[in-house]
Amino acid sequence: MLHGRTPSGVRFVFVAWPLAFLWHAAAMDDHATVDCKHPAGRFVPQIDPNRCEGKSACVAECPYDVFVVRRRERAELPGLNLLGTLKWWVHGGQQAEVLRADQCHGCGLCVSACPEGAITLKKA
Ligand code: SF4
Repeated sequence: MLHGRTPSGVRFVFVAWPLAFLWHAAAMDDHATVDCKHPAGRFVPQIDPNRCEGKSACVAECPYDVFVVRRRERAELPGLNLLGTLKWWVHGGQQAEVLRADQCHGCGLCVSACPEGAITLKKA
């Protein structure tokens, strides 16, 4: 039945979408229980403010809610260079912040998820 196709294709869509949703939900559940190799506090994520565009991939990926994305004042980001300042302004000041660094388990999900390559892990 999954591989069947009616002339209009309607049946395929109604069968496939719930299955795709369930598959996605299962994948997200696996993600939430990712097997991190390190105890909390061994690594600390570092955000390069000149790269961060506040896209929230880190917030979505981190199983330990280490990050928050919020509007940050220019004075909070003294390391911004000219291009970083321009990006900060264009994105309405939205940037990620490491809120719960002590909860980081060093899994690296945020590093691979960030589309700007803005996150690195440092030993605490
Ligand atoms: S490495 Fe990144 S995603 Fe993993 S726990 Fe630390 S902050 Fe969260």
